Amino acid sequence: MKILVVEDEKKVAGFIKRGLEEDDYKVSVTYDGAEGLKLALEEDFSLMILDVMLPKKDGLTVIKELRSAGKHVPVLMLTARDTTEDIVSGLDAGSDDYLTKPFAFAELLARVRALLRRGEQDRGAEILFADLRLDPVAHKVWRGGAEIDLTAKEYGLLEYMLRNPNTVLSRAMIAEHVWDYAFDSFTNIIDVYVNYLRKKVDRDFPVKLIHTVRGQGYILREK
Ligand code: CA
Repeated sequence: MKILVVEDEKKVAGFIKRGLEEDDYKVSVTYDGAEGLKLALEEDFSLMILDVMLPKKDGLTVIKELRSAGKHVPVLMLTARDTTEDIVSGLDAGSDDYLTKPFAFAELLARVRALLRRGEQDRGAEILFADLRLDPVAHKVWRGGAEIDLTAKEYGLLEYMLRNPNTVLSRAMIAEHVWDYAFDSFTNIIDVYVNYLRKKVDRDFPVKLIHTVRGQGYILREK
């Protein structure tokens, strides 16, 4: 696992590098945003740890340029200020998680592990069903060639259905897989999300793919 650290405070960068290396990660460090972007585009890192305030190119610009170049490497952003505005601009720009300085190394390591796990799940081939296509790396979905704009939960629900087509999925199964949650009084929320998804996936198409199985749950099938 190769991790890129972009941090201009050399003490902090060194502390992160040593800690990660002790945990058997391979670590590259660079001290400015322009060089960080260049490395992230040229090499395949499993994760990027990116400070926001950087010389030459700030962290937010780095993430935006990385994403618009089609690179989906997970990014953990380091912010100096714990303001909602900063965090939201980071997440909007395309970072996956953030950590406020100063932080404990254990906290950083926990975030790193979580992002790497998520990255592994995201890898894999496109899933095709009828005229639906899902790209698990880019987190994008198309029907009949037109991209469908989904929220994160709608996407998670559709991905779960696409990985289990022609199978009745109970509300309990959906809750457990999509919400990581076993939960009885959750069924209303699932119905609400299935309806959102139907509007986006099925409403404008003659062939409906998401079907209700009365008393049992939902199924993705062509007829
Ligand atoms: Ca900095």
